[in-house]
Amino acid sequence: MVDVQNDFCPGGTLAVPRGDEVVPIVNRLAENFRSVVLTQDWHPAGHLSFASTHPGRSPYDTIAAPYGPQMLWPDHCVQGTRGAAFHDALRIPHAGLVLRKGLHRTIDSYSAFYENDRATPTGLAGYLRERGIKRVFLAGLALDFCVRYSAEDAVRGGFAVVVIDDACRGIDVAGSVRATWLSFTALGVVTIAAGEVAGAAVGQ
Ligand SMILES: [Zn+2]
Repeated sequence: MVDVQNDFCPGGTLAVPRGDEVVPIVNRLAENFRSVVLTQDWHPAGHLSFASTHPGRSPYDTIAAPYGPQMLWPDHCVQGTRGAAFHDALRIPHAGLVLRKGLHRTIDSYSAFYENDRATPTGLAGYLRERGIKRVFLAGLALDFCVRYSAEDAVRGGFAVVVIDDACRGIDVAGSVRATWLSFTALGVVTIAAGEVAGAAVGQ
C-alpha cells in the first residue's frame, strides 16, 4: 500500500487528484491479506526532489541528478510533518511493516524497493523473501510514479506483481499515466479491480 499520505491527498502540497478516494478501498482490500506493508514518502527538509531546493526551478521541471533525470516537486512529505502522516481515515492496523523511503537528501525514491539511482535498496525485497512472499499486490498513490516504479522493481526482483487499478490514482504529468499502463503490459504486470481481489488473494 503505497504512500496514502496527507500531502498526496486533496489539501496536501502534492495532491493527487481524487487521491483520498483510495482510502476506503485500501482499508477494505487489506482485510484480504495477512502480510501488509505500508510505504511512506519521508523526506528531510531541503530534499533534492523539491523545486525549492534549486533556485530558479519550478515544480515539474526536470533536473540532471547524478543518477539521471529527476523531476522536481513541490515540497512534500517532510519527515515528522502532518503532510507526511498517513491519511486520517486509513485503517490497516494489522500492517506488519511501515517502510519509509526518500530519506537520503540527495536521492529521491519513488519505488518501495530501490531509490531513484536504481542501485540503493530499501530492504523491502529481502523482507518479502525472508517471509516466503512470491507475489505482491500494489495499490495507492501515485499510480504513475511510486506505484509504477514499485511494480517495475518488484518484477525485476522476481516477484509476481498485481496492481489493483481502481485502488490507485495518478498525477498524470506529460502522459505518465498512459506510459504506466504500457510499461505494465510490457512487463507482464497483472492489473485487476479491487472487487476481484478476494478470490485472487487467497493464501497471501
Ligand atoms: Zn517524494
